Amino acid sequence: MSLLPFENYFINVILPIPLQRLFTYRITEAESKFLKKGMRIAVPFGKKKICTALVYKIHQQEPNAYEAKSIHQILDDTPVVTELQLKHWEWISEYYMCSLGDVFRAALPSAFLLESETIVLKNPKFEDDSVLTDSEFLIYEALSQQSQLSVLEISSILSKKNIFPLLKTMLAKQAILLKEEIYESYTPKLVKYIKLNEKHSGDKALIELLGSLQRAKQQHKALLTYFSLDAQTRKPIKAKDLLEKSAVSIAVLKGLVDKEILEFYHIQEDRVSFGVAGGQLKELNQFQQVAFEEIEASFVDKAVTLLHGVTSSGKTEVYAKLIQKQIDQGKQVLFLLPEIALTTQLIDRLKKYFGGEISVFHSKYSMNERVEVYNNVLESKKNTQIVLGARSSLFLPFSNLGLIIVDEEHETSYKQFDPSPRYQARDTAVLLAYLHQAKTLLGSATPSLESYYNATNNKYGLVKLTKRFGEVQLPKIELVDIKEKHRKKRMTSHFSDRLLEEIQESIDNKEQVILFQNRRGFSPIVECETCAVAPGCPNCDVSLTFHKYRKELRCHYCNYRQSMPLNCAACGSTKLTTIGFGTEQIEMELNELFPDVNVGRMDLDTTRGKYGYQKIIGSFQSQEIDILVGTQMLSKGLDFGKVSLVGVMNADNMLNFPDFRAHERTFQMMVQVAGRSGRSKKRGKVIIQTFNPYHQILQQVSSNDYEGMYKEQLEDRWQFHYPPFYRILKITLRHRDLMTLDSASEWFGKSLTNAFKDNVLGPTAPSVSRVRNLYIKHITVKIPPKQSLKATKQHIVKIQNTFTAIGAYRGVRLGIDIDAY
Ligand code: ADP
Ligand code: ZN
Ligand code: ZN
Repeated sequence: MSLLPFENYFINVILPIPLQRLFTYRITEAESKFLKKGMRIAVPFGKKKICTALVYKIHQQEPNAYEAKSIHQILDDTPVVTELQLKHWEWISEYYMCSLGDVFRAALPSAFLLESETIVLKNPKFEDDSVLTDSEFLIYEALSQQSQLSVLEISSILSKKNIFPLLKTMLAKQAILLKEEIYESYTPKLVKYIKLNEKHSGDKALIELLGSLQRAKQQHKALLTYFSLDAQTRKPIKAKDLLEKSAVSIAVLKGLVDKEILEFYHIQEDRVSFGVAGGQLKELNQFQQVAFEEIEASFVDKAVTLLHGVTSSGKTEVYAKLIQKQIDQGKQVLFLLPEIALTTQLIDRLKKYFGGEISVFHSKYSMNERVEVYNNVLESKKNTQIVLGARSSLFLPFSNLGLIIVDEEHETSYKQFDPSPRYQARDTAVLLAYLHQAKTLLGSATPSLESYYNATNNKYGLVKLTKRFGEVQLPKIELVDIKEKHRKKRMTSHFSDRLLEEIQESIDNKEQVILFQNRRGFSPIVECETCAVAPGCPNCDVSLTFHKYRKELRCHYCNYRQSMPLNCAACGSTKLTTIGFGTEQIEMELNELFPDVNVGRMDLDTTRGKYGYQKIIGSFQSQEIDILVGTQMLSKGLDFGKVSLVGVMNADNMLNFPDFRAHERTFQMMVQVAGRSGRSKKRGKVIIQTFNPYHQILQQVSSNDYEGMYKEQLEDRWQFHYPPFYRILKITLRHRDLMTLDSASEWFGKSLTNAFKDNVLGPTAPSVSRVRNLYIKHITVKIPPKQSLKATKQHIVKIQNTFTAIGAYRGVRLGIDIDAY
């Protein structure tokens, strides 16, 4: 007698954790019919935990190593992750040596990844609770009593097991929030204007008015000034301008308003808006038109094309035209930007052209905003036909991409360093486009060496745009030898006489100035004059940075802070001096040198929060700021018409950075900041202060010789075995205990050397060898052009597996980074 085979159904899922393998759960037959690849389910994991998993495969093979648990519940009716996305994830996971779970966690907005430990809060902005179902209302009530609860707590308070779906709908109704969120609201700036009261229009009324004020001298003066301003500019008049021009007090203006002669009104100034009228694309000039046609021609047989266009050549307009063509054909476009907060100007321009079809996506957005964009893309809504986003927007569920544009493709922020997946968004974009059979356009004024190498070797197409728009000349770059200037006593603080002259000239011409200093804070470190000890961070192996504004010392690695000590911790001496200089110090020196000039500062400290950049960029644009001092943030694609001078305070600290790309990076940075000068009409100037004016890279910057820089750097790369010839794979080990770390990294290093011989460098301690109480060691593996990447990785995984099995090294954190640059 044979038994009927009992039908068993199982499901393989991806869990959002770093473990390589998939996990198997038991499901019912009905569930097996309903579930599809890419849907989410809640599953038990570990002892008590419940977390969100992604359906990967449904099958009937019982696992033999363990008893499969049942799933908790189903969370979606239809897949939230598409087949194409999963293919992309698989490629990322294989190429970057990370788990699918790592990609899962990075790819979905965190609201999609509820777990029993997730903390839930009431949304204070939620008002209409009538939209909630009875069960949802119970949760909402529980949250009113206690300001925050974990998913697990809610489920035990309500003695209800199935709350994941309820939380999901409540999130959709925006009744609740998940913790991790930081909220910031942006209040647009209100500017106070002044105008003539309606009653008094017409010439006759004016004469009467002035007559009536014969005895109120001040008011008379103010009104006269108002008329002359009005006649001169024919534009709305700011109350502030009238005050300045007429040299009266605000009380005088108020008096006039009380008499109903003048009146105040406000205009909400969109601080980052562009003065473009209408939504029409601009007509391309002849050079742009040629570039546009060349790109199209190149796409006929190349999947990737590099647009090498000098700063201010109008690459954006070329992009816009390409985008237009895609949407006319009903295709989606992904426009990648290096750091979205810095590119509000560009977003604004594209919004003007494609308003209703654009969505913006980035990690500073609130969770609700991110979920909304994700869902809209999933449903192929019209307003997501164009997505502008930072690197994480690669993970959106596109269905029909026609083109991916990677703007400023050389930017380092396209590389994700931590946590895993450590992907390079530009390269990952090329693959995504390939999966959609779409094209990729890389754009830059200073392409990365790798991309230019691919372009000159026919792997990518290459299109050049060598003229600035309006044929404004590229700025004139002058190198100033500050060693010489010091010797001749021609330095005032950190300013050479040349730089000061030029600043003065710009100010006199009512033009704006950008000063670049690649360090934030007041000065990098404080040092004791007696014993030369510098206060260091207790958690990291670095000196603390002095921030004058708050009179405190800070660690730029872990954010540790303490107030500025009065005496040296080592010898007690009170003679503490500051060494080096940062943005804050430059700002202060400027305030002394140019007391009448408004100085602004843009660095990590002044731009926190979602709208931090917008505020500063906005006030520079509206010319409330005359001189803007900043770090490398300034180099990113900003377009200000009134900037006639860019000054680089010190070019040397970048050149001396210990990294094989330091020279390439310096070139890119300098050319990019220089490119902010003289963008409209008049030729701009750039002053670069340096101790090494004859340095090859600075010479190349000053003659805008990209080709020369490229050739020379490429030779170095070849000679010293670096990309694009050799690949670089970097292994990072971290541990609290230095002895353990030393022995672990020695072991790992030896195992690698056995296999890869001379191509293994290290283990070495990085220049900052301890961060947040963890010691750090690096091992670099160079992979020669002919060596199989796949075999290399497989071997490294083998070593890794043996390593993790060694008890003594348990707790050593291991990170692998492919193309770690
Ligand atoms: P890039 O991105 O190459 O640095 P932009 O696209 O920012 O250059 O263009 C530089 C400036 O020239 C912008 O202010 C832009 O509005 C203007 N511009 C570029 N192309 C055109 C065009 N075809 N018609 C009118 N203005 C243009
Ligand atoms: Zn620290
Ligand atoms: Zn001392």
